[in-house]
Amino acid sequence: MSATRHTKVLIIGSGPAGYTAGVYASRAMLEPILIQGIEPGGQLTTTTEVENWPGDSEVQGPDLMVRMEAHARAMGCEIIGDIVTNLDLSKRPFTAQTDSGTVYTADAVILCTGARAKWLGLPSEEKFKGFGVSACATCDGFFYRGMEIVVVGGGNTAVEEALFLTNFASKVTLIHRRDELRAEKILINRLEKNPKIETLWFHEIEEVYGTDAPLGVEGVKVKHTKTGEITDIACKGVFIAIGHAPASELVKDQLALHSGGYVSVEAGSTRTAIAGVFAAGDLTDHTYRQAVTSAGMGCMAALDAEKFIAEQE
Ligand code: NAP
Repeated sequence: MSATRHTKVLIIGSGPAGYTAGVYASRAMLEPILIQGIEPGGQLTTTTEVENWPGDSEVQGPDLMVRMEAHARAMGCEIIGDIVTNLDLSKRPFTAQTDSGTVYTADAVILCTGARAKWLGLPSEEKFKGFGVSACATCDGFFYRGMEIVVVGGGNTAVEEALFLTNFASKVTLIHRRDELRAEKILINRLEKNPKIETLWFHEIEEVYGTDAPLGVEGVKVKHTKTGEITDIACKGVFIAIGHAPASELVKDQLALHSGGYVSVEAGSTRTAIAGVFAAGDLTDHTYRQAVTSAGMGCMAALDAEKFIAEQE
């Protein structure tokens, strides 16, 4: 039989926004419940060194998330390893159904479901996902010791992954569709100095190819974006690092979205169009998308929720 539990504040998601909302809502004596979701700790659990979290000149992403979780717990936030499968925001209290069968009702909801990796959308990419095609260098880099690898993308993630993968690979080719990277200068400098990395400008992957039995990648066919010329690059691993898309599936039919799927909030706040529903972090922010800005928005959402609940009472 499924249990139903009520909470004043339900926080959905466990990245920097979620855990920070947990800390602040707990300290406001709101006794929040936080549902972690499919990837506890969020995107930072799939990175390595983080060098821009204030107070730590270098910290491992997964360690930082373990600390944030412990901090939220220590303040009194109840943290639950479950996945919200359905969320009804049509009336208060709001209702969240979870994978375990437990149903949560809440006076206020803070949405912190973040974003997840984007894929190229090629059938051949789909075919080899998990068999040579990956979106997580930290998770899968180890399998490519002494092998050649390609990384696709031109942002911070692509450059960081390319650098990280040189710990394992004999050669990393960074494939970018333009001739300019959007990554931070410090990362570009490191990339340029790394003898194992070659950058292929103005190219896009046309096809990933490989063997069927066993399933595995042997290379990629890349197309020059200006001339259309097709070239072949032999490699055993293909890392896709072309950005992230917001995880707004739970609310996409209930809340206004912007910029292709980000939840809209009132400028300067975390209030959505539904009173009592707040959104923070990468789910709503397509501009900054940093751990520190997500944490800041998580704080704002908890303060907004506290004010909302006080007004109701
Ligand atoms: P991003 O900054 O959005 O960069 C995505 C890259 O992929 C761009 O270079 C883009 O090309 C390329 N791209 C997008 N779609 C493509 C497609 N279909 N085919 C080929 N290339 C495609 O994403 P990100 O690197 O994941 O970073 C996301 C956010 O997280 C950013 O704000 C970033 O600063 C932040 N981040 C920060 C750190 C850090 O501070 N240590 C680490 C990782 C990420 P164009 O350049 O041509 O658009």
